[in-house]
Amino acid sequence: MVSRVIPVEDFDLVIFGGTGDLARRKILPGLYRRYRSGQMPEGARIIGAARQDQDSAVYRKLIGAAIKEFVPEKYRDSKSIAGFLELISYIVIDAQGAGGWSDLKKLTRKDVVKAFYFSVAPSLFGDLAERLHTYKIADSQSRIVVEKPFGRDLASAKALNAVLAEHFDESQIYRIDHYLGKETVQNLMAVRFGNILFEPLWNSQYVDHIQITAAETVAVGSRGAYYDKSGAMRDMVQNHLMQLLCLIAMEPPNEFEPDAVRDEKLKVIRALDPVNSSDIVRGRYEANKDGPSYLEESGNPDSSTESFIAMKVNISNWRWKGTPIYLRTGKRLRARTSEIAVVFKDPPHSIFGKQEGRRGNVLAIRLQPNEGMTLRVTIKEPGPGGMRLMEVPLDMSFADALGADAEDTPDAYERLIMDVIRGNQTLFMRGDEVEAAWAWTDPIINEWQERGDMPKSYDSGSSGPEDALMLLHKDGRRWREIKE
Ligand code: NAD
Repeated sequence: MVSRVIPVEDFDLVIFGGTGDLARRKILPGLYRRYRSGQMPEGARIIGAARQDQDSAVYRKLIGAAIKEFVPEKYRDSKSIAGFLELISYIVIDAQGAGGWSDLKKLTRKDVVKAFYFSVAPSLFGDLAERLHTYKIADSQSRIVVEKPFGRDLASAKALNAVLAEHFDESQIYRIDHYLGKETVQNLMAVRFGNILFEPLWNSQYVDHIQITAAETVAVGSRGAYYDKSGAMRDMVQNHLMQLLCLIAMEPPNEFEPDAVRDEKLKVIRALDPVNSSDIVRGRYEANKDGPSYLEESGNPDSSTESFIAMKVNISNWRWKGTPIYLRTGKRLRARTSEIAVVFKDPPHSIFGKQEGRRGNVLAIRLQPNEGMTLRVTIKEPGPGGMRLMEVPLDMSFADALGADAEDTPDAYERLIMDVIRGNQTLFMRGDEVEAAWAWTDPIINEWQERGDMPKSYDSGSSGPEDALMLLHKDGRRWREIKE
């Protein structure tokens, strides 16, 4: 395939928290992959900044080892690893003190794009922003990248936004939601707005309902104590599932520009109805032979936190009134899969009489594994025996469409970091979007707390609690199977 990649300018990328788990697992391996595919300019420099007292040589070793651990063998080679490590240096920094800041000022260059990745706890965001300003390291063109969780409710999200806004304009702030960096998510926009076929049907007249599922097989494990303060609603629904919902439901923006897209997403969040408690099912997994229960892993016998949630959401606008959107996410489920399924209505009249087992058109957009899209259509069953109908998938897996290049398409983090350098905010959440999402989430969580609501148990390796199945059954619908 001919590459039509938008070039990236020279840059200084400072990764605060450069020795942390996220930097080692995602950020630096992602940058390496871009380097190896020739998409990093010669003038790129990466500076790890953290509190560990070590020099650049030791840091390069740490990052070399991380690349070997987290980049599959066929996508790495020692020559390019050595070349990449040459771009990297390290500086000891104290986010809350004076240590390291003057040196960082000397290390960063004036005439290149400067990006600062805050891969640290959100409680340090304010300290970093302030020091970047005080030591005159950041300028009006600099960008900062912040990670989830962006707050744990509306008040804390507002406080974080305010702290960042003291020193940076909204156009400089890149709030990462790695779901938005996935190839399929962007393809969703290409499919919706680049074709005439889908958009005329994309409304409550033709769409029966939409299902968004993000199922994990992993448990909370060693993150149990941390996760127990959060739960599936805060950890997954408020951010990732909400972003997917916005992209699937938004009106066509007038152009593919950051604020045009984000304005439309915001309108969706604002149009969400409050959710009835009878339309929410919360769950937590039980122990089985493969692992302990949620309660054991959380270390909190009185926990009321959910590791699973399913809910029915309604959007009050002309396009979607009457088409429910069902969201579902959880840990320790049957398979690891994320997908959006748009389930269309049946044709108004069947000229073929009643056909058993017909399930209608579904456009399934898979985010993982095997990113791709499938459109289920009805055809005639081949051969003699009368007009019998069957359903077949029109399948577009990226592996097939892109051939050998498919697996080498950038991972979400790679794409998002390069977008930061390019100055493209389309795939990043704007402050008002995050606040609107919390404004919708807060009353739901508060109500659980007031009611003392407890999650239902579910078997590890299942599809979640029985009641989650009932959520759709009572509407005459059913969930799509959770499978890889
Ligand atoms: P971590 O605990 O592994 O690393 C924290 C990093 O921050 C270390 O490099 C440490 O040196 C640095 N640090 C801490 N206090 C400091 C100080 N006072 N001054 C200078 N440096 C300091 O954390 P992590 O898992 O890498 O997560 C980083 C951020 O990313 C967090 O906000 C987390 O919520 C978010 N996040 C992490 C993941 C993940 O998979 N790890 C996923 C999504 C979001």
